[in-house]
Amino acid sequence: MAFFDDLQKNLSAAGKQAADKAKEVADLTMKTAELRREEQELKDCYARIGQRLYESTKEVPSEADLDDFNQIEAHLNNIKNIEEEIQQLKGKKPCPNCGKTIDAESKFCNYCGTVLE
Ligand SMILES: [Zn+2]
Repeated sequence: MAFFDDLQKNLSAAGKQAADKAKEVADLTMKTAELRREEQELKDCYARIGQRLYESTKEVPSEADLDDFNQIEAHLNNIKNIEEEIQQLKGKKPCPNCGKTIDAESKFCNYCGTVLE
């Protein structure tokens, strides 16, 4: 039965092609993820170096770094404000003395005893 033999051969060829294609896609997805991980780890290394450099030179920044240093200060300030807003939304606030998170309605800090208005 040449017809069925050919059909089976064609089907298995198509099946193999589909399997090859699926493996190709899986390999590509895996390699892309591997690449992204490497890129992220590289960025993390740069970030750590940058943070150490920032901390060791923030008192006397170079002209080239000044703009980024100012932006870092602005971002740190924004983060602090957003964190406070998040605490407020959760019914909490930071103690103005020790900075620990306490109930927004508290009359004093449970941690350091500071009396609040
Ligand atoms: Zn406190």
